[in-house]
Amino acid sequence: MTLNIAIIGAGPAGYYTAEAALKHWGGAAKIDIIDRLPTPYGLIRAGVAPDHQSIKAVAKRYEATNLGAGVRFLGNVMLGRDVSIDELLKLYDAVVLSVGAPHDKALGIPGDDLPGVVGSGAFVGWYNGHPDFADLPVDLSHHGVAIIGNGNVAIDCARILAKTPAELATTDIAGHTLEVLAGSAVTDIHIVGRRGPHQASFTTKEAGELGHLDRAVPVVRPGDLPPLEDDAALEPGHRKMVGHIRSFAVEPRPVKPVTIHFEFFRRPVAVEGEGRAQRLIVETTRLEGGQAVGTGELHAIPCGLVIACIGYRTATIPGVPYDAGRGRFVSDDAGRIFPGLYASGWARRGPSGTIGTNRPDGFSVVEAIAADVPAGKGGDAGAALDALLASRSVRATHFGDWQALDKHEVGRARPGAPREKFVTVAEMLGLLG
Ligand code: NAP
Repeated sequence: MTLNIAIIGAGPAGYYTAEAALKHWGGAAKIDIIDRLPTPYGLIRAGVAPDHQSIKAVAKRYEATNLGAGVRFLGNVMLGRDVSIDELLKLYDAVVLSVGAPHDKALGIPGDDLPGVVGSGAFVGWYNGHPDFADLPVDLSHHGVAIIGNGNVAIDCARILAKTPAELATTDIAGHTLEVLAGSAVTDIHIVGRRGPHQASFTTKEAGELGHLDRAVPVVRPGDLPPLEDDAALEPGHRKMVGHIRSFAVEPRPVKPVTIHFEFFRRPVAVEGEGRAQRLIVETTRLEGGQAVGTGELHAIPCGLVIACIGYRTATIPGVPYDAGRGRFVSDDAGRIFPGLYASGWARRGPSGTIGTNRPDGFSVVEAIAADVPAGKGGDAGAALDALLASRSVRATHFGDWQALDKHEVGRARPGAPREKFVTVAEMLGLLG
């Protein structure tokens, strides 16, 4: 009997789950991959930095999955707006929440609601042309930007702000962002970490890239570096990353118009300004038991833009158990929320790991489904969902629609760029008719 599986979220977690299901059941499973946007690929399209095109190439693999027997993409269908979780649970044998962690974790300091303070989800979405953030007001008429967090997202944001239009020419960065960057007055980008170089979660390639920018130079205060001999205890990859950080403390260094200041051992305590962000107040910290403890010494970092790159949380869904502290659904080790409902990717684990970390998640969820649902309840869940959506006048997009949009985006690309993205849903649906 055919098994009907609905996967909510057409990002890496969703596609790796579909890939695992295809491998397990072959054509004996019907898989609907549902996304609220008309386009597939989630974080690959709207999260991975536009100048990291080689990472985005994994979309080819997801395309092959989507072209597999029994797999459909249904875009522009929003859980909670167009269809409820209860309706999906009734129709399908298994529903997998691969919805990622789209909401920015709150900074939670005075002044974090001032204009000029944004979360990385919004900022990254803006430069990647995500329809939710195409209108984000980003003002780069100031010299300073403060980026809070010592992870790869902080580095992505710093690198995009630091690159020249020529360095971004071969990327699929949104056209509206290129225009703002072309008029940028930014000369000082501060990457603020509440702990030190050893505790930073940058990876080697991402840290190293900052040393090879046309108009920007990274600077680390030598006093923030731990003793060299302490590096011996680090895992080799992390030691290499710390090696890059050490190299940014060495003088002389090239003179370039933009400086990327690593502000280690600085805890954000407030954003201040007249009607908008003008400075970030940070407190010097020291480590106690690996944790940052404030010393009471305050500094002001002048900045007109504060980007909080401090992590994300998954959206809540009524009736689905949620761990508010960790910002993710409550599930067992396999990703089972309860038999019939599962989570994979960041919705299960929280926002950590690389794109490939989602792959084993997909396999473990599929094993859980196979154990819980040895035989499907039968029927054609996809056809029933189509009828439900049609009765609500929902214009779902299918993989063929995406292929048409893809062709248009590639066709209208700037010279040398892979594509020029459509940044509003209305524009996409208007084109599809
Ligand atoms: P992350 O690596 O977890 O870094 C989050 C940073 O925010 C940490 O430095 C953390 O400091 C800091 N932080 C958290 N709360 C804070 C607070 N209240 N005040 C000050 N600092 C705070 O997360 P991410 O950078 O968002 O990246 C998410 C995942 O995506 C990671 O696994 C990352 O590697 C991956 N990613 C990969 C790439 C790539 O491979 N190119 C690119 C982007 C993202 P503490 O450590 O002190 O808690």
